[in-house]
Amino acid sequence: MVLSFFKNIHLFKNEPTILFFHGVTPRIIDREVQDIHLEENQFIKMIKKLQKKYIFLSMNEIEEYRKTNYKIPKNSLILQFDDGYENNLKVVYPILSYFKIPFTIFITTNNVEFGTRFPTFIAKIALKYTSKKKIEIPNLLKINNYRSSDWNFIYKNKIKNLIKNSEVKTSHKIIKILEDLIPDFLWSELIEKYDSDKPLNWKQVKKLSNSGVEIGSHCCNHNILHSLQPKELIRLEIVESKKIIKKKLGRCDYFAYPNGSINDICCEAYKIAKRNYSSAFTSISGTLNKCINSYLIPRSSITNSKCENILNEILAIKKNNPKYMIWQKEFVKR
Ligand SMILES: [Zn+2]
Repeated sequence: MVLSFFKNIHLFKNEPTILFFHGVTPRIIDREVQDIHLEENQFIKMIKKLQKKYIFLSMNEIEEYRKTNYKIPKNSLILQFDDGYENNLKVVYPILSYFKIPFTIFITTNNVEFGTRFPTFIAKIALKYTSKKKIEIPNLLKINNYRSSDWNFIYKNKIKNLIKNSEVKTSHKIIKILEDLIPDFLWSELIEKYDSDKPLNWKQVKKLSNSGVEIGSHCCNHNILHSLQPKELIRLEIVESKKIIKKKLGRCDYFAYPNGSINDICCEAYKIAKRNYSSAFTSISGTLNKCINSYLIPRSSITNSKCENILNEILAIKKNNPKYMIWQKEFVKR
């Protein structure tokens, strides 16, 4: 008993942690619209703090650790970025390559291909900038006296959940209705204004890949892979995105579930990811150890508020691990 307790302490100390981000931008215009991006100066400050205490590992090093008895350095971190924003090349890459820190980007292939913005960005902008007083999503939502000053409340409490938790056809309908809240000329203006949310293009993805940045898949269309989605859609999102990335870059070994929290990963998605990738990543907080499932790997999202207090945040992630281990055990029984 005493022996195994000490063994666990030893393991605990050495468990690497994955931190994931979305974007980093030189200037935040609106903190609420750009809630998934960190400001460049804030990001640099955080990296400097982390560098004093942690060692940064690449995905290859982590794979080695998980498969063999490769000794992992104490206090190690892995950095990942979801969605594939252009600022990952223009802002993140120069900073992290200066500090010689490896990182991974999970791209959504159709956003890279067509340059389209992500649904949550469209929703936030539409709600914030519309001048319409009536918003109606048939059978789901009706607001007669809409005030755009309430946009973030409506977004966070109603629209975000509707987009993320509905079946794909309904999500598309909602996005179309929201898009129509704003005239085309205003869309062009706002898309230019919020360039933090512009996705990478293939030329930029290739440049990153050639510079040693690991590129993984984050689906074709960022559809959330919950149990309401048609099976064929889940298969396409996971398998086709890999095929496309492999064709463009030569390989694609890693997958990150869109949204990636407990209700965003159905059994079908897990099984397909397992057949097609060497590991898959969730957004459920926890640290890495040899007992975790390679297709339900925990990661912790670092948002603006967590960034300020990063060292304490990392300690909190370690504490959350028992919860993660229980969830993972239950999931694989399903
Ligand atoms: Zn995402």
